[in-house]
Amino acid sequence: MRVVHTKSEVRAAVAAARAEGKTIGFVPTMGALHAGHMSLVEAAVAGSDFVVVSIFVNPMQFGPGEDLEKYPRTLDEDAAQCEAAGVALVFAPSVSEMYADGACTTVHVAGLTEGLCGQFRPGHFDGVTTVVCKLFNIVAPDRAWFGEKDYQQLVVIRRMARDLDLPVEVIGGPTVREADGLALSSRNQYLSATERAAAPALQAALQEGARAAREGATGAEVERTVAEALAREPMLRPQYIRAVHPETLQRLLGESGPMVIAAAAHLGETRLIDNIKVEG
Ligand code: AMP
Repeated sequence: MRVVHTKSEVRAAVAAARAEGKTIGFVPTMGALHAGHMSLVEAAVAGSDFVVVSIFVNPMQFGPGEDLEKYPRTLDEDAAQCEAAGVALVFAPSVSEMYADGACTTVHVAGLTEGLCGQFRPGHFDGVTTVVCKLFNIVAPDRAWFGEKDYQQLVVIRRMARDLDLPVEVIGGPTVREADGLALSSRNQYLSATERAAAPALQAALQEGARAAREGATGAEVERTVAEALAREPMLRPQYIRAVHPETLQRLLGESGPMVIAAAAHLGETRLIDNIKVEG
């Protein structure tokens, strides 16, 4: 496995792999890799011949006052995990390698980015889609894997690839959790011991909502169920709770049926997100 830092090295390595007839799999990350990331990497290794993992803490997707500076950076450990998993190439560019001086082009996915996290993190999804579009152009993968943990991100990237005719298949992977239900996240390491003990209440509340949904509750009733469950853990301060259509991300309110129940909550200084899918 090689760790490279420039776009030209990625292009040369991928071109050589393609010349050997290999298919290219891709997993974009911000590093601090955990078992959630590695489940996507394992799927990519199983589903393609030459796997590229990018590790880039993308400043464009962080808002003012967010955790860009303190975001964990652990390249050596990340590379070791990738090597053990069978990754061929790790791409860890600098900010100046990714963004030329005076870069002024962005990718914006309308509509889908307005609700959920998009409502509270203005500009975040433009940062995500711009960097992922650039990474797709640099790596030119056949298939790319994204986690359902960031459900809105997965839907937005799938739509971007479709709308811009990017020749990549976007594949979602299930959320990997701790034994107590907390979704793995690089940000979990910010939590104090008492905050960590309170954190599983987020998934537990979503599960209560999912139960209600399966029993026929409307979106509005589901949202209320989740809010009441979350209120039992006062350390968690909800930012939003939404029952949405799995593809359009439109809020369901009066409707029941298939839905994704998504929530964000603050726990001390840390912002957690999670979701649960209810099939029809
Ligand atoms: P990040 O490094 O946070 O940008 O995440 C990189 C990729 O890993 C994204 O596609 C995330 O959705 C995915 N991911 C993060 N946490 C998990 C998890 N607990 N389970 C599955 N995928 C995850």
